Amino acid sequence: MANISNEDIKTIRTNANIIDIISDYIPLTKRGKNFLGVCPFHEDHSPSMSVSEDKQIYKCFSCGAAGNVFTFVENYEQVPFYEAVSIVANKIGMKFSTNDKEVRKNNPHKIDYEIMSLALKFYQNNLKTELGAKARQYLAERHIDSEAINEFCIGLSLDKPDSLYTFLINKNYDLKKLTDLGLINVSKSSVYDIFTKRIIFPLWDKNGEVVGFSARVYRGEKDVSKYMNSKETIIFKKGETLYNYHNAKEHIKKEKSVIIVEGFMDAIRLSVNGVKNVIALQGTALTKEQVDLIKKLRVKVILALDNDNAGEMATINNGKMLEEQGIEVFVVRISGEKDPDEYILKNGIDAFLENLKNPPSYFDFNIAYLKKNKNLNNSNDLAEYINEVLKKISESDDEILKALTIKKLAQEYDLSLDLLNKKLTTFKKEEQKVKPQKKIVFKKEKKPYNKTADEILYFMMNDKKYVEMYLKKLGCFNDEIHRSIANEIVYYCDKYKSITLADFITYINDNELKDEVMKIVNSSVIAELNENILEDYFKTINKLMIKDKINELKEKMKIELDDAKKIKIAEKIQELKKGSVE
Ligand SMILES: [Zn+2]
Repeated sequence: MANISNEDIKTIRTNANIIDIISDYIPLTKRGKNFLGVCPFHEDHSPSMSVSEDKQIYKCFSCGAAGNVFTFVENYEQVPFYEAVSIVANKIGMKFSTNDKEVRKNNPHKIDYEIMSLALKFYQNNLKTELGAKARQYLAERHIDSEAINEFCIGLSLDKPDSLYTFLINKNYDLKKLTDLGLINVSKSSVYDIFTKRIIFPLWDKNGEVVGFSARVYRGEKDVSKYMNSKETIIFKKGETLYNYHNAKEHIKKEKSVIIVEGFMDAIRLSVNGVKNVIALQGTALTKEQVDLIKKLRVKVILALDNDNAGEMATINNGKMLEEQGIEVFVVRISGEKDPDEYILKNGIDAFLENLKNPPSYFDFNIAYLKKNKNLNNSNDLAEYINEVLKKISESDDEILKALTIKKLAQEYDLSLDLLNKKLTTFKKEEQKVKPQKKIVFKKEKKPYNKTADEILYFMMNDKKYVEMYLKKLGCFNDEIHRSIANEIVYYCDKYKSITLADFITYINDNELKDEVMKIVNSSVIAELNENILEDYFKTINKLMIKDKINELKEKMKIELDDAKKIKIAEKIQELKKGSVE
């Protein structure tokens, strides 16, 4: 399919029952007219998500998530819109697939992606030519075979300092764009490629778009740094990407776990050895954005970072960040070699897999880590250690884990359970003291005008006849947001001759308006739509709009100096007041 039209999308949406599609992801139970399920978009403890078969939408009463079948898949699978459409189409047996171009079509950075993807093809091609013989030999020595080269799209930047530049400029791309993307540099005397004489490893964003490169020397050059990475650009934010995320996603879901390593070579090494559920940090510290990406995978995490102090510290810190998000974390610490790549090269994949069998939990690793640099035969060190362990336990919510750890401590160091428990309570108290009081957030009370306008728009999104009523009886809102949404609805009805909420959600492109529409869908209180209720809303909003107008005129009157004009305003107010009583 060359192009997906709005009609195609509508057909897919109409044929896919939202109950069936969402049931593939979370269990739903029927409650009255609707279905209920545990919301996957926040930490839900009771079923807060309601799915309407009637309207083909879902909404969560707790976190405000709302939308149609496509938004659900987009958010659950963390895929772009067109991919969500394709997933839904496949689920209902409609043959339909998106290619890269289609996914990019709606993206404001499509040119940037296009250039990066062309640059990658250029690099990949170089490696296959005669000029790439030495680089291929280097890779072969590192046990990166042609299959791995293809899988990870490894390429080569040439010796000639302007070969990529010539290639791209001949395709009529703007030089400024090429420098902004970190591919080309311009100096006083020349224009040259950023990467030369290096093996090129592409870096992808979470959707699988090439956004940057990491480039490695391969001919033993001494006076340059081993790796060179793309600078941050409009599409490349280092802290928001995880190497191999897009490739590994499916495998991670299948294995129900993700292995996190530091460098991309570790990820490639594991992957070519058949361990595909692996992603790399490209550094040591996790960012908040990366933690969010990992959280969305909803699987347990195995941290397998480098065998050095930095790797150990990173294991402690990253593990803490992940656990705080409710993610189950396990730790693998290799010994002997410096990272999983070298470990596997030297000891083989089976030795590495042995480490993956029953790895210690992050909690156990952390407790063991507290022993480091302490001589537990020394009473002071031992007391410090036990206090630190108790403090750690006091932070955990897991009562069973607490009891087991206390018991282990008591046995190991011949201490009374009573004493340990007593000590633990003091930590708990301290912790409560420092813990800031949870703020109680009240739902923002909407102003009567906004509330009424929201409900009117909700009616309009559900049926063309309500749009016609709006045009006849109201025609306009006082504020811009409601007016813009109303205009979109009217335009949509004109174009498609009918409207349903589920289709309209897909149609709205503007992000700000989409958010507003979702809020309206989520907060609507109407169980049943009928004309009488809408009539009432029109009356209410008319009154409110007149009241607004009167207040505005009163303000005007206050500052008006000309008496004649003042009287005119007063008359106008009287007139409006009369109108509002009727
Ligand atoms: Zn929710």
